Amino acid sequence: MQFREIFPKVKEISQEEQEVTYLFTISEERFFLLKNGIEWEMEGYGWEKPVIFRNARPQYRGFAGITGMQLFDWYRSNRFCGRCGKPMVPDHKERMVHWECCGNMVYPKICLGVIVAVTNENKVLLTKYAQTPGRTANYALIAGFTEIGETLEETVQREVMEEVGLKVKNIRYYKSQP
Ligand SMILES: [Zn+2]
Repeated sequence: MQFREIFPKVKEISQEEQEVTYLFTISEERFFLLKNGIEWEMEGYGWEKPVIFRNARPQYRGFAGITGMQLFDWYRSNRFCGRCGKPMVPDHKERMVHWECCGNMVYPKICLGVIVAVTNENKVLLTKYAQTPGRTANYALIAGFTEIGETLEETVQREVMEEVGLKVKNIRYYKSQP
């Protein structure tokens, strides 16, 4: 499946629908969000589940698709001010929505979390998900979200304790991902 065919170009969108929000640039390719895109239909394009981005080639287009979806969700969930209830206005300079009367400024929030590989010699500890009928059992590393007031190391200790009842030490950082 070619992603060139999956992402429509801005110039292909008709004039009256051209209310687009700039998202980001990857390798000089710019990505936009089409306002009210959920109702958009056009010959030659169809709606797909985001799971297809997992196998997207080149990979950066999958990353663009997933990140674009997360931003779409953020814009959609921040249409009204949580303080005064009035409609929020997107800022023109940075990725933020605001409402002048109460001064509330809302930036995209990222929920920090950890994924932990608990190891013992040459083995790694996996948790088993509840099995859905007709599907094979899924195994996963211990993972969870960081709570307010907690360090990432404390999240690791708490999640491991909650999920498998082990007290972990010698916590080492491996790497991060968005
Ligand atoms: Zn407000």
